[in-house]
Amino acid sequence: MAAIPPPEPPPHGAGRATNTPPGQDGRATPCADVAHLLSGYAANELSDPERTAVKRHLCSCRQCEGEVAEYREVLALAHTLPALAPPPAAETRILRALTDAVRSRLPGGSLDETTVERPLS
Ligand SMILES: [Zn+2]
Repeated sequence: MAAIPPPEPPPHGAGRATNTPPGQDGRATPCADVAHLLSGYAANELSDPERTAVKRHLCSCRQCEGEVAEYREVLALAHTLPALAPPPAAETRILRALTDAVRSRLPGGSLDETTVERPLS
């Protein structure tokens, strides 16, 4: 008599289709439920419930833990890059393009140039 093989574990990323927030129902959270949160977790940009759900998942999932570590490596490398200033004429070109776009949508194409303000200064 042949031995019956044990059931295979669900594939990585297998999820369930519910509206329950990840980790809120007491069951283990499938990878698919937190996959979209891993980069935000690495960047510390999640809400408290999201962070808690990911943290709980990472306690039992080496694969997602590895993904978070990779995101953190990429973020650390990105922070070592020098900040680049845009070309000096870029702001003027962007403001001109915005002014033209707004003007083209106004009735009669009228726009008082003095109402266009510098957005980031
Ligand atoms: Zn996982």
